[in-house]
Amino acid sequence: MQQKKRIVVALGGNAILSNDASAKAQQQALKQTAQHLIKLINAETQVIISHGNGPQVGNLLLQQQAADSKENPAMPLDTCVAMTQGSIGFWLQNALEKEIQNANLEQEVATIITQVIVDGNDEAFKNPSKPIGPFLTHEQAQALEQATGAVYKEDAGRGWRKVVPSPKPISIKEKYSINTLVNNNVLTICAGGGGIPVEQHSGQGVEAVIDKDFASEKLAELLDADLLVILTGVEKIALNFGKEDEQWLDQVTVSELEQYIEEKHFAPGSMLPKVEAAIQYVKAKPKCKAIITSLEMLGDIDKGTVGTTVIS
Ligand code: ADP
Ligand code: MG
Repeated sequence: MQQKKRIVVALGGNAILSNDASAKAQQQALKQTAQHLIKLINAETQVIISHGNGPQVGNLLLQQQAADSKENPAMPLDTCVAMTQGSIGFWLQNALEKEIQNANLEQEVATIITQVIVDGNDEAFKNPSKPIGPFLTHEQAQALEQATGAVYKEDAGRGWRKVVPSPKPISIKEKYSINTLVNNNVLTICAGGGGIPVEQHSGQGVEAVIDKDFASEKLAELLDADLLVILTGVEKIALNFGKEDEQWLDQVTVSELEQYIEEKHFAPGSMLPKVEAAIQYVKAKPKCKAIITSLEMLGDIDKGTVGTTVIS
């Protein structure tokens, strides 16, 4: 029997949420996402899906804070990440089941609550950088900083926000469960929102956010995937992005990309982590490639003519 092609697909924020944060609108967006994803699903492939949760976890934190009381206390960040893995997982699972049925395929879909192991001594813990939750006034931020010890920073002139560390993923706790599901023809959704960060020694959840691009890369490595696809809001990556001499990249090697990183072509926090994740994956699996592209291009991914392909 021919070996199936294992593909990890990381979904960007635009696959789930445009500007309407209602459950209905997000389910509608995921319905369209599922209509693209189904193009990858057939008897020759094993697809594993991960996704972001930035806007969803931000909104959930706001809801938690608005209703916070002794009887109904606000949930901490790790629990909120788990809650969004559940809600987004449900929506996507439900949408994919419909498409699978329409395509006359036989496959179950499952979502795994995923814990991602981080090092408590990761340098990121000394420099919290990822803004989360609501915008506050300076006074509110100072009061909370004193009361809780959390760190607050000014965010691009828009107000003060809590910042949390963004440590690198070391491993994924549920890797055997995920592998078992995938081997048994279950379309698996996991590592949502970059996973729930847990400290490697204590096993406890920590106040941090793991970049979903790095978590997806780790997933692809641990599952020995043949291809990593990172789907985002642009069809390709560009040099001089948004400038007059913008140049879209079709195929690029690791060393070329490393040069472009030096030249600061990729914005930190948006395109840079995708590029770094692609590099890391291809370095770990030199015979494989990573593709960065948009959801709409997914159907043509096998032709090698869409997106930016990263090779070793
Ligand atoms: P996601 O939710 O998929 O992680 P992000 O907004 O974090 O999406 O990152 C993707 C965005 O990065 C693109 O939509 C684009 O606006 C921006 N970007 C920054 N630098 C580049 C670049 N060099 N080439 C292409 N897009 C870039
Ligand atoms: Mg992003």
